[in-house]
Amino acid sequence: MRSISILGATGSVGEQTLDLIRRNSGEWKVVALTANSNVAGLAAAAREFGAEVAVVADERRLDDLRAALSGSGIEAAAGRTALCEAAARPVDITVAAIVGCAGLGPVMAAIEQGGTIALANKEALVSAGDVMTAAVARHGATLLPTDSEHNAIFQCLQGGRISDVRSITLTASGGPLRTVQDLSAVTPAQAVAHPNWDMGAKISVDSATMFNKGLELIEAHHLFPVGLDRIRIVVHPQSVIHSMVEYRDGSTLAQLGPSDMRVPIASCLAWPGRMDTPMAPLDLPAIGELSFFAPDETRFPATRLAREAAQAGGAAPAVLNAANEIAVDAFLAGKIAFSRIAVLVESVLEQGELPAAPRTLEEVLRVDEDARHRATRILEPA
Ligand code: NAD
Ligand code: MG
Repeated sequence: MRSISILGATGSVGEQTLDLIRRNSGEWKVVALTANSNVAGLAAAAREFGAEVAVVADERRLDDLRAALSGSGIEAAAGRTALCEAAARPVDITVAAIVGCAGLGPVMAAIEQGGTIALANKEALVSAGDVMTAAVARHGATLLPTDSEHNAIFQCLQGGRISDVRSITLTASGGPLRTVQDLSAVTPAQAVAHPNWDMGAKISVDSATMFNKGLELIEAHHLFPVGLDRIRIVVHPQSVIHSMVEYRDGSTLAQLGPSDMRVPIASCLAWPGRMDTPMAPLDLPAIGELSFFAPDETRFPATRLAREAAQAGGAAPAVLNAANEIAVDAFLAGKIAFSRIAVLVESVLEQGELPAAPRTLEEVLRVDEDARHRATRILEPA
C-alpha cells in the first residue's frame, strides 16, 4: 500500500487522479483530500476513498463539510492553515492539483516534509521559482512534473544527460482560437472549448491566450536547467507529441500519447515504474498526419511576455502570473474582452518598478498579492 494526498481533489486533475486510484484501490491509502468550496464533491470523494482528512479552503463551509462527513469518522477542517497542515501530513506522494498561486502554500508544506510531489499546479512553481527549487533541494523532496509537456520532457531526459541537451521543445496545441481571425469578440464559452483536452476553466482560457505555454516555459526553465535560450515552443495542433528533447548528437527524443491527463498522472503515480491506464492505445494511422507551426506572437503575445518575465527573473514571473489570474477571472466574469487579458498583464509588468526578488514563501505571497491589487486597480480605477 502507498499513501497519497490530493490537493485540489475536486478539479479536473484531482478527479482524474482519483479515477486511477479507483481502478487500483487495493494499492492506495488516501490521507488528505482538499477542495476550494465544493463540499459535496469533496465529501463524496473522502467517503468513497476512506480519506483520513478532508479540507475545504473556504472557512465558511466548515459546518457543511462536517455535516456531509458525519458518522464517517473522517476529520473535517477548513481554511488556508488547515490546508497547509493537511498537506504536511507525511505521505508517499502528494498530487498538487490546486489551480493558481493559491496552491503555493500547501505545495511548500508538502515539500518541507521532504516528500514526493506530483506537480500539476504550475502557477505555484512559476510564482515561487527559485524559492521552491531551493526548498526542494534543502528538504530532499522530489518534484515529479505532471503537466503533460514537462512529464514528456522528464521521460525524454531518461535517455541522456542534461549536460548533453541541445534544446527542449515544448509542444502547444495552439488552443481553440488558433485559426479564429477576430479575437476581440471571443466569448468565455469559445475560449474554454479546447479541441484536445478536457480541463478546468482557468487553464482552458490560458490555452486559448497561450499564457498556458508561457507559464509552461517558465515552469520548464525551473525544472530543467538547460538555459532559457534552449527552450523552444512549437505549435502542434494534434497534441500527440507532448514535448521533445534534442541531444548534442542530433538525436531528438519525443514522448507521444493520447491527450488524456491520466497518462502523465499515471507516470508520476507509478514512477519509477509503470502502471496500466484505461485509454485506447495511440492509433497513428487513424491520426494520419502530425503538423507543426511556429507560434504567432503578434496575435498571441503571452509567450513573449512570459519569456521576457523569465529573462528578467526575480519577481517578474510572479507578477505575470498574478496579473494573468486576475485577468482570466475578469474575462470569465464577462468584465473584460479576451484580447484585454494580455494587455492587462503587460501593463502590470510595465507599471513602475518590479518588486525585489522574493527570497522566502512570504515574500513570494506578498509579490503575488501586490500584483493582484495593481491588476485590479487597472481594471477598476477608483
Ligand atoms: P480545476 O479548476 O478543475 O480544479 C482546481 C482544484 O483546485 C479544485 O479542486 C478546486 O476546488 C481547487 N481550488 C481552486 N481554487 C482554490 C483555492 N483558492 N484554494 C484551494 N483550493 C482551490 O483545475 P485543473 O484543470 O484540475 O488544474 C489544476 C492545476 O493543474 C492547474 O494549475 C493547471 O494549470 C494544472 N494542469 C491541469 C491540466 C488539466 O488537464 N486540467 C493539465 C496540466 C496542468
Ligand atoms: Mg501542459
